[in-house]
Amino acid sequence: MADSVAEPRAGGGSAGRRLRGPVAPSQWTVGRSFHGSGTRMLRLSTRGSAPRYVQSKEKHPMRGVIMYAPGDVRVEEREDPKIIEPTDAIIRVTASCICGSDLWPYRGIEAVDHQVMGHEYVGVVEEIGSEVKNLKVGDFVVGSFVISDNTCDICRSGYQSKCVHGTFVSTIGTQSEKARIPLADGTLVPTPEQPDPELIPSLLAASDVLGTGWFGAVAAEAGPGKTVAVVGDGAVGLMAVLAAKQLGAERIIAMSRHPDRQELARFYGATDIVEERGDEGVAKIKELTNGLGAHSVIEAVGTQESMTQAIRSTRPGGHLGFVGVTHGVELPGLELFFADIHLHGGPAPVRRFLPDLIQMIWDRKIDPGKVFDLTLPLDQAAEGYTAMDERRAIKVLLTA
Ligand SMILES: [Zn+2]
Repeated sequence: MADSVAEPRAGGGSAGRRLRGPVAPSQWTVGRSFHGSGTRMLRLSTRGSAPRYVQSKEKHPMRGVIMYAPGDVRVEEREDPKIIEPTDAIIRVTASCICGSDLWPYRGIEAVDHQVMGHEYVGVVEEIGSEVKNLKVGDFVVGSFVISDNTCDICRSGYQSKCVHGTFVSTIGTQSEKARIPLADGTLVPTPEQPDPELIPSLLAASDVLGTGWFGAVAAEAGPGKTVAVVGDGAVGLMAVLAAKQLGAERIIAMSRHPDRQELARFYGATDIVEERGDEGVAKIKELTNGLGAHSVIEAVGTQESMTQAIRSTRPGGHLGFVGVTHGVELPGLELFFADIHLHGGPAPVRRFLPDLIQMIWDRKIDPGKVFDLTLPLDQAAEGYTAMDERRAIKVLLTA
């Protein structure tokens, strides 16, 4: 790992402090080795009386997270987003967060090189393109982690995560102060009014982990009379427990060996906890289900072990919803053939569920925001990554 892992406030060294001028609020930081245009613009700003980068009321260029390399997360200035297409909206990000999937590049399992980060977001619309009809400036919005038009055949069938015009928000990088959201009418869902601050973590959860856990539960056909097993006690797994409960499942088995996560799983509706993993975990699930396995299993990790555990925990005829992004998973054809189970998964079409999820949060029927057990200012994103990597935090909320 790069040396900056040991420094929770990457980019907050003396160089950053020295460059802070009267027009640059003390909040923001500059990477030690970054010599891009942003830094040069800042130098201009601290010398001259008319800083060129200042557009309208902005006092500084926006800041955002950039992952230089595995383990090397910095918060730096990024170019302010602008409307490019008439269907775009610019949002000021109220809150974003670090995803379990952000840990794959952080740990070097996925390639990363100066990548903007972040795909979960809630915020306020600052500007809209000329063709945006469903939103207005000032709306508080929640969007999913996939841009979607919400009108193509695939979207209308409920699979907005595979929209024919879709792109991943991870290419935009919402661990930042602002973001340009393409296809804003299709992607963003406004809340009924400005939310109470206490609702913001829950609305942010809807952007990915709640929507993903919900899809996992729907894909696994969790419902009345069903026994549901959830493999994975990260934020998505916990949200899958919440979803299974809301969908009316009779019994919900959370597979977790962490006491704090077990407690949260019980809060969200788990009736049983299984600490064993692998084949021992499968044996335990069978023991709890008269030797049959669960009707519905949700896989929320993405490793070979968890996927195998999930398949073997599903009873014949049962449903497995898999929502953990798989890494190096290979499924043996013969075992799948003889399992006789339904498999359904992939990147969750969160947009399908957003209106209902927002309403449930608005009505305070669900409290998904509890999955955020660490809140940090955007500047301290590097510490957030470290905390999640070391499993000191389930999920980190970043305030812009
Ligand atoms: Zn579409």
